[in-house]
Amino acid sequence: MAAVSSMNHRRHEESARESSSYDAKPEKGWGWVRRSVKCVLHEQRLWCVVLGVLLTSAFFVLQPSYGFQYGFLKKEAVVSDVGVEGAYSRAYDLGHRRASEEMVMPYGKQGMRIISPGAKVPLGLKKGAKRIVVTGGAGFVGSHLVDRLMERGDNVIVVDNFFTGKKENVMHHFGNPRFELIRHDVVEPLLLEVDQIYHLACPASPVHYKFNPVKTIKTNVVGTLNMLGLAKRVGARFLLTSTSEVYGDPLQHPQNESYWGNVNPIGVRSCYDEGKRTAETLAMDYHRGAKVEVRIARIFNTYGPRMCIDDGRVVSNFVAQALRKEPMTVYGDGKQTRSFQYVSDLVEGLMRLMDGEHVGPFNLGNPGEFTMLELAEVVKEVIDPAAKIVFKENTQDDPHKRKPDITKAKDLLGWEPKIPLRQGLPFMVTDFRKRIFGDSKEALREDEMGNARITQSD
Ligand code: NAD
Ligand code: UDP
Ligand code: UDP
Repeated sequence: MAAVSSMNHRRHEESARESSSYDAKPEKGWGWVRRSVKCVLHEQRLWCVVLGVLLTSAFFVLQPSYGFQYGFLKKEAVVSDVGVEGAYSRAYDLGHRRASEEMVMPYGKQGMRIISPGAKVPLGLKKGAKRIVVTGGAGFVGSHLVDRLMERGDNVIVVDNFFTGKKENVMHHFGNPRFELIRHDVVEPLLLEVDQIYHLACPASPVHYKFNPVKTIKTNVVGTLNMLGLAKRVGARFLLTSTSEVYGDPLQHPQNESYWGNVNPIGVRSCYDEGKRTAETLAMDYHRGAKVEVRIARIFNTYGPRMCIDDGRVVSNFVAQALRKEPMTVYGDGKQTRSFQYVSDLVEGLMRLMDGEHVGPFNLGNPGEFTMLELAEVVKEVIDPAAKIVFKENTQDDPHKRKPDITKAKDLLGWEPKIPLRQGLPFMVTDFRKRIFGDSKEALREDEMGNARITQSD
């Protein structure tokens, strides 16, 4: 019995050896390929392999983060068009800033983009819609810009400390899931994940910026530094709203962008003028040094609905005074000049600048130049031909003349203002009348006409 079983055992071994035809020596020729194929086809192993491949692919498609982390997918595959939210913020919050910075890599002409492990396009965000921060977005210019961005379908975050801005300027967007409002002072650091930053936060009227000059210069310098730091961290494009005040009391007329200006560094306007000049310097240094994509707009006097009624700026003063049947206060001899731009023209210019390829600086203003006495005459025409004028002492360091040369913006941005003062002023008057008197019936009628006329065709 034992002999039979041992014989059987040996027979088994022999038949196994025959069937596998295994040889320790490396085989010459393609025999091993034939054997491998035979092995795979044996007992439906091929189907198991196919099933395994399918399951693995499905897993990595549903979990792209693993693809990146383990190098299975190409890095470009997880660059998010809409910025990155979760993972990057977490890394930053945890103080892993260096690690996070290593995730920054050049992204074609767009400059620096963040690669975030595990970043997925959040649900509900349209591909291609941008996430845009507007600092100072509750103010006069900012709120009009926000309206246009919302209209375009972007996701807009307004950051404002409400120093001169008002919730009322943006509250018509409350409840829209694409809109967020954050009460925040830009002098403090801020963490957000966005594609573009329109940096407007800063009081613009001389009365407001002289109210607390140290705060004004902090806003311009520290606030701009923080927003540039944010732009650098998330690879966002950054637009600075600078000002014609960087030309000071200009010795060149009209002013083009290559003029360096004539600014008093220790005067009462310096907190604003020098603050904006430093903000421009910071923007250019982040551009050259950290490759942040910056855009610089030098804005000339702008007017329109939603200006603060008592901000002390000349257009708001004259309009409010004429409406209230008070004399219009002309400072000095009234022969100093300014060039007034309607707000929708400015917003169009800012958006073209942001979305275009040129850094700037660009003058954005209406070259139509008026003395303050001429402006008072236009206000009389529009509001009350019987309105009176009273002369008051002028303020210190008031620039004598100002008129933008907009050749550069015309050539490179294809932009020029479309609304002359006599056409734009009535829209502002309607808004002021409504806010001063609550004269909503008349205001509404004019507003409907006005809006139809000011809609920009391109
Ligand atoms: P605005 O005063 O109406 O708006 C400024 C906004 O910034 C306000 O909402 C204010 O609350 C906010 N803000 C101020 N300091 C802040 C801070 N530290 N943190 C957060 N928010 C802050 O002025 P505007 O006329 O709308 O001007 C907007 C921008 O355009 C400003 O940067 C201004 O310098 C520039 N600019 C305007 C004009 C103009 O004629 N309107 C001309 C040149 C430049
Ligand atoms: N900053 C910010 N948000 C960010 C990144 C930076 O507010 O998402 C601030 C930061 O607090 C710093 C400033 O921006 O004060 C400049 O940042 P940067 O990284 O350029 O300079 P550093 O912090 O290295 O001095
Ligand atoms: N101005 C004026 N009456 C006013 C307010 C201002 O004549 O009630 C003059 C002011 O002296 C300046 C011009 O209007 O020459 C523009 O002043 P604004 O404060 O509007 O802006 P600025 O260009 O000086 O920043």
